[in-house]
Amino acid sequence: MSDAKDKAAPSTSDTVHGDRRLGVEHGAIHKPIHTSVQYGYERVEDLIGVFQGTLKNSFSYARQGTPTTAALEAKITQLEQGVGSICFASGMAALGAIFLTLLREGDHVVSSQFVFGNTNSLFGTLNDLGIEVSKVDAGAVERVRAELRPNTRMVFVETIANPGTQIPDLEAIGALCRERGLLYVVDNTITSPALFRPKTVGAGLVINSLTKTIAGHGAALGGAVTDTGLFDWAGYPNISPSYRGIDARQQGLQQLRKKGLRDMGATLSPEQAHRISLGAETLGLRVAQTSATALSLARFLQGHAAVAAIHYPMLESHPQHALAVRLFKAGSWLLAFELRDSANVLTVLNRLQLPIKATGLGDNRTLIIPVAPTIYWEAGPAVRAQMGIADGLVRVSVGLESADELIEDFARALS
Ligand SMILES: *Cc1c(COP(=O)(O)O)cnc(C)c1O
Repeated sequence: MSDAKDKAAPSTSDTVHGDRRLGVEHGAIHKPIHTSVQYGYERVEDLIGVFQGTLKNSFSYARQGTPTTAALEAKITQLEQGVGSICFASGMAALGAIFLTLLREGDHVVSSQFVFGNTNSLFGTLNDLGIEVSKVDAGAVERVRAELRPNTRMVFVETIANPGTQIPDLEAIGALCRERGLLYVVDNTITSPALFRPKTVGAGLVINSLTKTIAGHGAALGGAVTDTGLFDWAGYPNISPSYRGIDARQQGLQQLRKKGLRDMGATLSPEQAHRISLGAETLGLRVAQTSATALSLARFLQGHAAVAAIHYPMLESHPQHALAVRLFKAGSWLLAFELRDSANVLTVLNRLQLPIKATGLGDNRTLIIPVAPTIYWEAGPAVRAQMGIADGLVRVSVGLESADELIEDFARALS
C-alpha cells in the first residue's frame, strides 16, 4: 500500500467540477439552491418510479434530498472516489445515522480511544441502547484485534485524532477488517479527501464533517457519509429485508438514507449545501497552505524553551510520523502543544492577537482553545486521562494567516 498517498492526491478539478456530474441547469455555473420541499411529476407513473427507486436522480420530498444537496453529494463522492454519499445536517448527524441505523442491540464496536469528544459522548448513548463500544489505543493493530468478539460489527477510527493528533494503524486495521468481514468506518474530517482517501486503506464508510475542512469558512454546518464500494453489504446481517432487493453495493447507503435521513430527519438544507459547496471549491489550496503553515508553527513551538510538548504528525518526534508521511499528502492544520508551566496557559492565550479564542476546526481563521477547561470539561478527569488530554493542552486550528505573522505573534505571547 506504499502508493496510497499518490492515489489520494487531491484533484482541484473534482472540487470545482464534482457537483456538475448530475447535470447542469440553464448553463448555471453554480448548482441552483432548490428550496422546493415537494417535487411533482406530469405522469403518475414517474411519481411511482421515484418512490420505487426506478426513476434515477429524482426527488419526492426534501427531507430525503434535493437537487442542491445531491450535487454536493456527487462532489463528495468524487473527492472520496466512492460509489455514493449522503449529506446530513451536521457531522454528528452523519455519525448518529451510521451507529443508530447500522447497529442493533447486542452488537459490539471497537473504536479508537482517541476520538472527537462528542463522538465519545455518543458512544455513551449507544451503550444505553445495548450496543457496547470497546475503546483501544488503535496505534497498533494487535490491540484492535485483541478486542474483536463474535458480535463485533464495526471498527471505528479517525485519521488524525483531535486534539492529540494520534494516528491509528490505518492500513493494518483495514487489512484486519477485510480478513474478518468487518465494517471499517473512518472519520476523515481532519485530513479531508484533499490529504487522504480512507478508501486506499480499505475503509467501507467514510465520514466527513463538512463544517470543518471541506467548507472552511465556518459559516455552515454539514456532514457526509460516503460508501467506498469496498464493503460487502450482502454479508452484513443488519440490512433490513426492504433494502436487500437492490445492488449489494448500494444497500448500506439505502438503509442510511431511508432510516438515517428520512426517518430521523437531520437533513442538510439546500442553502447550507450551497455554502459548503462554495467553500469546497478551494479545499485543495486551503489545505496545502494551512498544512505548510502548521508545520512551520509546529517547528517554531518545538524549539521554544517554554513549550514542553508539541503534537503534529509531520514532526519527526511524532510517534506515527512515518505512517503519516506514507499516507498523508501533508500534516493538516491541526496541532496541539503543552507549556512547561501549565499555570501560564491563560496568560499566553490572552496575549495572542491573531488567533481567535474559540472552538472550531479547519477554519480559514486560526482558532485556539485550552482543551481541558472547555471542550473536555463535561467529560471529566477520568475520560480526559483515557483520551490523553493533559490539563495544560492547547489546541490550534491553523488558518490562512501567514506563517511569519503567526510565529511572530506566538513568539511575543510566549516571551
Ligand atoms: C467536528 C467533528 C465532528 C462533528 O462534526 P459537526 O459538523 O460539528 O457535527 C465529527 N468528527 C470529527 C473528527 C470532528 O472534528
